[in-house]
Amino acid sequence: MQTPVPDYLQELLEDIMSDRRGHVADYIPVLAEAEPDQCAVALSTVHGSTYSVGDDDVQFSVQSISKPFVYAAALEAMGGDAVDGKVGVEPSGEAFNELSLETGTHRPKNAMINAGAITVHSLFTAASGDHSERAAAVTRFLSRLAGRDLCLDEEVFHSELQTAHRNLAIAHMLRTYDVLAEDPHDVVRGYTAQCSVAVTVKDLSMMAATLANRGRQPRTGEQVVSPWVARRTLSVMAAAGMYDGAGSWLTSVGIPAKSGVSGGLIGALPGQVGAAVFSPRLDVQGNSSRGIRAFSRLSADMGMHLFESEVRTDSVIHGWSQDSDGATVRLQDELRFTGAEVLLNRLEGIPAGSAPVLFDLSNLHAVTDVGRRMLLEGMRRLRLDGHSIHLHDPQGRLPEPDMGDGTFPELVEER
Ligand code: GLN
Repeated sequence: MQTPVPDYLQELLEDIMSDRRGHVADYIPVLAEAEPDQCAVALSTVHGSTYSVGDDDVQFSVQSISKPFVYAAALEAMGGDAVDGKVGVEPSGEAFNELSLETGTHRPKNAMINAGAITVHSLFTAASGDHSERAAAVTRFLSRLAGRDLCLDEEVFHSELQTAHRNLAIAHMLRTYDVLAEDPHDVVRGYTAQCSVAVTVKDLSMMAATLANRGRQPRTGEQVVSPWVARRTLSVMAAAGMYDGAGSWLTSVGIPAKSGVSGGLIGALPGQVGAAVFSPRLDVQGNSSRGIRAFSRLSADMGMHLFESEVRTDSVIHGWSQDSDGATVRLQDELRFTGAEVLLNRLEGIPAGSAPVLFDLSNLHAVTDVGRRMLLEGMRRLRLDGHSIHLHDPQGRLPEPDMGDGTFPELVEER
């Protein structure tokens, strides 16, 4: 038997290939020469599998898709406060290269538009010397996310530098307000190099999967950024990754995403997958047309909308027996906030007294942090009512079950 995932991706590829709308970017001379019908799709799961179809070994410049990752790098290196002092987290509703800053603070509105990304680049590489050291620092970081050594595409770098007037204007504007502390020319050279790092869709899907996997690279196992940095980065991607199309993207597709002018588009669904599409035909907002179509299908076909949630109707309580000799509570599946709330409500019905209460976790598969805290607090309160608390936990779902006051339930081995 062969897994059907590659067949699905192949069918998806053929579907998006039939869409010939959009044009290659032309404001960077070398991108204007891109082959418009190259196309590839890749999907990487948080468990470390990668599937890809189409032109999946073709390298292209990462462009703006570097922005969320370098933002994550700066957050990891400097902490949230230092980065937040310089760059906001609000959607801008503007084009990616707009010359605009937040009124009052003069910060760029977010790290996904060029003004924010140029600032973030300079923060992350502040300790580096010239632009080539800046580029090397960024390339090293992106390589850890991809799980292989990436390189700069020198041709794209020099081509974009020739026409980087708008980014230079943005950098000078940032320097005027002291958002940027360094030489605008050097920072723009470094930022342009950052955008020129060459990747494949497989690299990008792995990088996105690292964000989906709470900052841990699914293949190498390296914790590249902390879970809070991954969560923050995904939040800003959801709010602003698709520039002035961010609202309709979140509504219809619902996957935190980021696009780049060379035709890349990534999306990361927390706890599940990272995906990437490459197709250089862009829409008027500078996003890959086929990329958008691919993500719309992934979202619909695979139930990947962020706000698509399963409502669990099956109870976490799998068995309950109670008499004057005591109570036995058997739990199943996963204990999360809502299940724990149901459980605590039932526990309220146990009258105060000295009868033992046994919690049997042998059928419980997982416990979230809040589920654990609520269960332990329930145990503590039952004990305050006079009960002795017993725990049967053969799979160790509740390690170190301190009830919050240094006391533990009595462990029961056999039942
Ligand atoms: N290097 C490009 C620029 O700064 C990146 C833009 C993009 O991919 N949207 O203009």
